[in-house]
Amino acid sequence: MNSTLRALESIPDVEIRENEPLARHTSFRVGGPVRVLARPRSERALFAFLDSLRELEVPFLILGEGSNVLAPDEPWDMVVVQLHLALSGLLPSIRKAQGPTVLYAGAGARLPDLLRFCIENGLEGLEPLAGVPATVGGALFMNASTSFGAISDHLVRIDLLDPDGARRTLRKEQLKPGYRTMGLPENTIILGACFELGPCANGELKERVDTILEQRRQSQPLRYPSAGSVFKNPEGQFAGALIDKAGLKGYRIGDAQISEKHANWIVNRGKARAKDILELMEKAESVVYRTFGVRLDREIRILTQLCRNPAP
Ligand SMILES: Cc1cc2nc3c(=O)[nH]c(=O)nc-3n(C[C@H](O)[C@H](O)[C@H](O)COP(=O)(O)OP(=O)(O)OC[C@H]3O[C@@H](n4cnc5c(N)ncnc54)[C@H](O)[C@@H]3O)c2cc1C
Repeated sequence: MNSTLRALESIPDVEIRENEPLARHTSFRVGGPVRVLARPRSERALFAFLDSLRELEVPFLILGEGSNVLAPDEPWDMVVVQLHLALSGLLPSIRKAQGPTVLYAGAGARLPDLLRFCIENGLEGLEPLAGVPATVGGALFMNASTSFGAISDHLVRIDLLDPDGARRTLRKEQLKPGYRTMGLPENTIILGACFELGPCANGELKERVDTILEQRRQSQPLRYPSAGSVFKNPEGQFAGALIDKAGLKGYRIGDAQISEKHANWIVNRGKARAKDILELMEKAESVVYRTFGVRLDREIRILTQLCRNPAP
């Protein structure tokens, strides 16, 4: 890795952090040091960096806000790339009379910033996602959604690098958005997307967002670090209700706990380790299966299982 590291460090305009604790970059506040955390500062630097990773055949993965992932406790020999310094622009098209506006958002932009922009500019459509901590890229890859709607609802197109590194644009009709998936191959890198948003009074939008945020505060354990829902809801059922009925609400391993407020959330009560969280997930899976015969499907992504191998 040392000569590889020197080669990567020689690429201009890329912030490289060696042995960076991933706990600083995940919403669970869990994760040991990763060999390289790279933040290209421009689109040009990002492409040069990705080209080098491919040439050097270095495995890597993209991390957004880290709000849907579990990072390993142990030191990890991996390159993690973040896009927010290179790709966080928000560009609205010129609005025609009272018609819709097409807004381009870079993959590294944060959803709360995107929503603030929409409120300030009277653009409706993305407010169902209020309170979802994500980058645009992470939210698209996961097709983030709430009971009010999904990020794919107002999507027009996604710009991406496909697994062999070629730049492509996919229109919504070419995508297969589903529950917590946009149907994109694992090695895809989302660069940005266009959304079609309707006109709306900004006061009304702000009110809608505030109501959604208040509902979330009432029902979700936001006091402690977490990664949101741990399991997908099985067809016609709620994962949280199954875990609760199986008697696991409040169950704790080390500092990882199945939330007393919402049983589909695992919270970090202090110094939880990935190992504790994983054990808790396995416990919920086995007890729910034993009790109800239902197999829970994980929503949280285990980072060590995701490593993106460079294109051949
Ligand atoms: C308090 C809290 C509440 C939450 N509420 C919700 C909710 O209501 N609804 C919901 O859907 N989710 C929710 N989540 C989960 C999480 O916010 C979403 O899954 C979100 O979409 C993850 O975005 P991210 O940028 O953090 O992605 P990350 O967690 O960093 O990454 C998730 C996956 O996306 C990939 N990825 C990230 N960026 C890109 C990119 N540019 N190109 C390709 N792949 C990429 C990563 O490699 C990884 O596989 C919540 C999480 C928390 C902590």
